[in-house]
Amino acid sequence: MHRIDDTPARRLVILGATGSIGRQALRVVEHLNERARSIENAPRIEIVGMSAGSSASDLLELSSHHGVEDLALHTHDTKAPDGVRLRVGEDASTQLVRDTHPDLVLGAIVGMAGLPSVVGALQLGIDVALANKESLVAGGALVTRTANEHNARLIPIDSEHAALWQCLGRYSLPGTALPENVRRLIITASGGPFRTWDAQRIHDATPEDALNHPTWSMGPKNTIDSASLMNKALELIEAHWLFGAPSEMLDVYVQPDSIAHAIVQHRDASSIMQYASPTMLVPIQQAIAFPHVVDSPVESPDLSDLGSLRFERVDDARFPAIALAHEVIRTGGLSGAIFNASNEAAVDAFRRRSIPFGRISRVVGDTLEELAPRYQSADRYDLCAILEASDHARARAWERCASPDKTPTTVRP
Ligand code: NAD
Ligand code: MG
Repeated sequence: MHRIDDTPARRLVILGATGSIGRQALRVVEHLNERARSIENAPRIEIVGMSAGSSASDLLELSSHHGVEDLALHTHDTKAPDGVRLRVGEDASTQLVRDTHPDLVLGAIVGMAGLPSVVGALQLGIDVALANKESLVAGGALVTRTANEHNARLIPIDSEHAALWQCLGRYSLPGTALPENVRRLIITASGGPFRTWDAQRIHDATPEDALNHPTWSMGPKNTIDSASLMNKALELIEAHWLFGAPSEMLDVYVQPDSIAHAIVQHRDASSIMQYASPTMLVPIQQAIAFPHVVDSPVESPDLSDLGSLRFERVDDARFPAIALAHEVIRTGGLSGAIFNASNEAAVDAFRRRSIPFGRISRVVGDTLEELAPRYQSADRYDLCAILEASDHARARAWERCASPDKTPTTVRP
C-alpha cells in the first residue's frame, strides 16, 4: 500500500509530557508515525507543543528529541535553547494551547492543576484526549458543558473509560445520551497492593507499601490513589460525567489481574466486556488515532494463558472510597471539587508521612461532610467557583491532617 503524503498531520499538544502518561503518549506517536509511513489512512501526528510542572530539564530533553519548539512549565523558569519558545507560570499550559491551536490536546497533567488548560482547549473547540481524571471530578459540569457548547470532543484515555467507550461501540461521547438498552456501566479495579490486607495493616501502610502496585506502572499520585481505591472512586465520578450515568447505573468490581477493564450490562441480560493487557499504550493509541484504528505493538492477552478471570466485590469497610464517590455523584454541586481537593491534600500529607494511610479516606469523608452542604446549592460552576471550593477543601483537609486523629488508632480487623 502507498501513503497519501498530502494528508496533513494531526497537530497534537501534550500537557504533562514528562509524566507516565505523557511519555507513553510520545511512544505512541512514534509508533503511529512509523505505521503512517507504510499504511494508507494511518494518521500522521506532529507534536506542536509540550508542557510539564517543574521538570524543566526533562521537558527540554524530550522537546529536543521530538523537535518541539513550543513549551510550557508551571514553575521553575529555565533558559530555553535558541528557537524554543518557553512559557512559564500558572497559565503557561493554557497559553501554549492558545498559541499553537492544535487539532488535539492530550490532557495528562496530574491533579486538578490540569483543569484550566482542559477547559481552555475545549473553549477553543479543540478535541481533548483526557487522562487527567481529576479535572472531570472537580469540574465535570463545566468541562462537559464547555465541550458541548464549543462542539469539541472529549475522548477518554483512562483505561476503564476507554473500555466502556469501546463496549458502547464508541457512540457515547459526552453530550450523547446512553443507548436505551444500557442498564449498568461497570468498571474494574485491580484492588491495589492492599487487596488482601486486613484493616489494621492497611491503616499502618507506608508510602513505600502504597507505591508498590501489583499490575500497573503509573505516576505516584495515581498509584497511591489505586491503593486506597480513591482512584476507582475518582473514576466512578469520571464515568458519571463522561457517559451521563447516574450513581445507580455505576458499579465497580475488583479484577485482580487487570485484564478485564469494563463491562456494559444490557437490559436484555446480555453484557459486553472489554479486555486488554494492562498497559496504557492501548487506550492512548486509540485516543490519539481516533477515529482511525491502527495496529498496536502490544500483544493481546492469550485466552489460554489467562486460565480464569476472577471478579470480587469491593469491601467497603476496608475501602470506604467507593461509597464516598456514590455520595458525591448523588450530591452534585461542587462536592466533586471538595472530594478531589481534600484527597489531593491527604495524599500529599501521607507522602510526607504526616498522616497514616488509613486516615486518607477519613480526611476526605470528613471534609466532604463539613463542606458539601455549603457548596451543594452553588449556582455557579465556573472555573472561579471550582477553584474557590477546591482551595477551601484543601485548606480544611490540611488542618485536619495537622491535628491529632480523634478516632481510635486501633481499627477493626
Ligand atoms: P505523573 O505524575 O507521572 O505525571 C504528571 C505530569 O503532569 C508530569 O509531566 C508533571 O510535570 C505534570 N504536571 C504536574 N503539575 C503540573 C502543572 N501544574 N502544570 C503543568 N504540568 C504539570 O502522572 P501520570 O501517572 O502520568 O498521570 C497523569 C494523569 O493521568 C493523572 O490525572 C492520572 O490520574 C491519569 N491517569 C494515569 C494513568 C497511568 O497509568 N499513569 C492511567 C490512567 C489515568
Ligand atoms: Mg484507570
